[in-house]
Parts: sequence; C-alpha cells; structure tokens
Amino acid sequence: MSYQEPAPIPDKENPFESMMKRFDKAAEILQLEPGVYEFLKTPAMQVIVSIPIQMDDGSIKVFEGYRVIHNYALGPAKGGIRYAPDVTLDEVKALAAWMTWKCAVMDIPFGGAKGAVKCDPKKLTRVELEKITRRYTANLLDIIGPDKDIPAPDLNTDEQIMAWIMDTYSMHVRRTERAVVTGKPLILGGSPGRREATGRGVMIVTLAAMERLGLKPKKSTVVVQGFGNVGSISAKLLAERGLKIIAISDITGGYYNKKGIDVEKAIKYVQNNPEKTLEGFDGGDKITNEELLELECDVLIPAAREDQITKHNAPRIKAKLIVEGANGPTTASADPILEEKGILVVPDIVANAGGVTVSYFEWVQDRMGFYWTTEMVNERLERMMLSAFENVYNIAKAYNVSLRLGAYILAVDKVAKTLKLRGIYG
Ligand code: NAD
Repeated sequence: MSYQEPAPIPDKENPFESMMKRFDKAAEILQLEPGVYEFLKTPAMQVIVSIPIQMDDGSIKVFEGYRVIHNYALGPAKGGIRYAPDVTLDEVKALAAWMTWKCAVMDIPFGGAKGAVKCDPKKLTRVELEKITRRYTANLLDIIGPDKDIPAPDLNTDEQIMAWIMDTYSMHVRRTERAVVTGKPLILGGSPGRREATGRGVMIVTLAAMERLGLKPKKSTVVVQGFGNVGSISAKLLAERGLKIIAISDITGGYYNKKGIDVEKAIKYVQNNPEKTLEGFDGGDKITNEELLELECDVLIPAAREDQITKHNAPRIKAKLIVEGANGPTTASADPILEEKGILVVPDIVANAGGVTVSYFEWVQDRMGFYWTTEMVNERLERMMLSAFENVYNIAKAYNVSLRLGAYILAVDKVAKTLKLRGIYG
C-alpha cells in the first residue's frame, strides 16, 4: 500500500463542544449532583422522521428530519428548524440544549428544542420545499403544539415555511392555530418588531455593558462582523444612538472607514445589489475579515457565524467590549485569553436573545388573540434584555467569573432548581 498522508488534526473547535465545556464549568461551580447533571445533559426526546415526497419530475425522494427536545422543565419547548444538507442529529441535540440555557437566562417560560431536515433548499423547487415542510410537520403532529413545542425559523427557513407549518398543523387539528409556530408573517399572527429584535437586543445590551465600562456612546467606535439581519440592524441602531461604526463586513470581506461608515447607505447598497452583499461598496477601504476583528475599537460585534474569535487571534483583539451577535463566535479556548486581556464579553445566550424574546411575545399575542404595537414590543424587549443583562452581571460578580460563565450558572441553576421542585416522575 502506498504511503498515505495522515489526516490533519482538526484545529477547528466545535461550537457545541465549546458550549458543553462552559455548561460543565457552570455545573462544577454549582456542584450539581451527578444525577441532575446527567439529566440536564440528556435530551428529553429525540425524534427522527422520514419525509417521502414526490419531486417535480415525478420521482419519489425520502428526506430525513429531526426534532430534539432537550428539556421542558421551564415550559413548552422552543427552538428553530434548519434546512441543511449536512445537518446531523448531534448538531440538533446541541442546539436544543443551547435553547434551554438561552430561555432560562432570559426568564422565558420555555424549554429548549431544535429541529432540522437534511436537505439542500438551493436544489429544491418551491413546491418541493412546501411538500417537505408539510410532511415534516404532519410527522411531528404529536410532538409540536402551542402547549408542547413551538418551532421557529433558523438556517434556510423563513416566514413562508413557518406559514406552511402553521397551516398544516391547523388543518390537522381542525382549527386555525397560530401559536404553534413563531417567526410567521405579520399578517398570519407574527409579532411587530420580530425582524429587528435580535439586532435591537444587541444594541440594548451593548449600551448597558458600555455604561458599566464607562464608555460614552458618542465617543465610542464599533466594528461589526457580518452584515445580515443581526449585523446590519445592530450597526444601524447603534449608529442612530451616536456610536461611530468604523468597520463592517460580510462574506465578501471588510470595509473600514475611520471617519465612520454610513450604515443606512450600506444597507441600501446590499438591498440593491443583486448578490445581496457588500461587494463593491465604496463607503470604506477594503480589508479582510481577519483584519477587521483585530481593529483598534471600543466595541466588537461578531454577528456572522461561529468560531471567529479563537485562541489564534484572541491575543491580537483590541476591543474593550465584545458583544456576541452570532451564536458561538468565540471558542472556549479563546475565553481565558480575552479574560486575561480584560476584555468584557457579553455572551451569545444573552446578547442575541432578542429574537427568541420577541418570538415568545409572538406566542403570547397569538394565544391572547390580541396584538401589541411595535412600541409595546420594543419597550418590553428592552425591559427583558436589561433585566437579563443585570442578572448575569450580578451573578458573574458574585462568583467572580466572566459574564459567559455567569450566564451559564444562572441558566443551569434555574433549570436544576425547577427540576428539583417538580421532582423526578419515575
Ligand atoms: P444572515 O444570513 O442574515 O447574515 C449573515 C451575515 O454574515 C451575512 O452578511 C454574511 O455575508 C456574513 N458572513 C457569512 N460568513 C461570513 C464570514 N466567514 N465572515 C464574515 N461574514 C460572514 O444571518 P443572521 O440572521 O444575521 O445571523 C447571524 C448570526 O446570528 C448567526 O450566528 C445566527 O445563528 C445568529 N443569530 C441570529 C438571530 C436572528 O434572529 N436572525 C438570532 C440569534 C442568533
């Protein structure tokens, strides 16, 4: 046999393992008893369904779908559904646990769940996508429901897909049931303010954290990685409050302007660009995404994807404050480096929880059949974000740990205490 190069040791940290490492640390600090630890690590339910549909060319194809409920100690389960060709049950399990901690930190009466269909939406027609969505929903009819488990959009799923889920579920239960899913179009019972909610939440906690650090908005500079829903809205709302956005980026690279980027102009540019990217934007000098993360600035908002701040670039990060718009942008091995450097990090499970919070509002409004104004939504979102930030800040101080660990301690402790009070049935 000819010589084969050994497989390279993967350098990438798995964001879900990173999350579990932090959960383990919180469990250790809380001295969780082994049984409770085991309980909180194990998903309550894992469902695999096959989804046969007739494709447009007449052939039959079978897709695989998952729904994992991690825990429902705090209430019905909540979590998005993603469509992706490479999604695995393990990934869905980890994402479901993530939702449990996020809801617990935010004081939302939901447990955590996540769902997925292994498919490539880019290769499917609209009719095929609708069939997959309806069959997936029908297969999960005993699992999902407004009092049991409430899906939402995630990677490659949108308002239209949520509308099909709502309709399919409603057809089966013989009544219109809006509260079975969130992230719906406004006209079908979606909540005002949902589209902007995550970016708005990022803005709210950024200002709260800056206050703790004594940073003045009108004198502070911000760098935002990622210019999609979360990044562009965070940048827009922070600019409106007087902060100077000195760099933005997307998949095409970074754009730096020390005098300040015109965020509105950048948003319009992306909207009008057929590729829906910043490629060719002339409001700043072109830099790489790697350079962008290491810029001199007061606030850095990673709002693109996971694994961006690692042990390799963390020593060169110059921001005073990092607010995690994305899920898992910082690896566990970067945590101690940032801490050592005295950089305050507002962790994802608090910083980007505005989305799930307004999803919760959507569910409440659907169940009441009474809809709030955008002002009411924004005001309640602000109250919940500030209260979560404050709670996490105080716990972190009390235990003398980072905000990230503080958030996990708060979440794990809350779910563990609820579990103890409810007791184990069996
Ligand atoms: P999006 O698809 O709207 O935007 C993603 C942006 O990141 C795009 O501008 C894309 O070009 C850019 N990007 C992708 N890869 C990149 C790379 N390697 N370097 C730089 N930029 C890159 O997605 P979104 O909804 O804004 O979500 C962004 C992150 O926030 C994800 O981690 C998501 O899980 C998280 N999040 C989103 C919400 C929400 O309500 N949308 C809620 C919570 C968390």
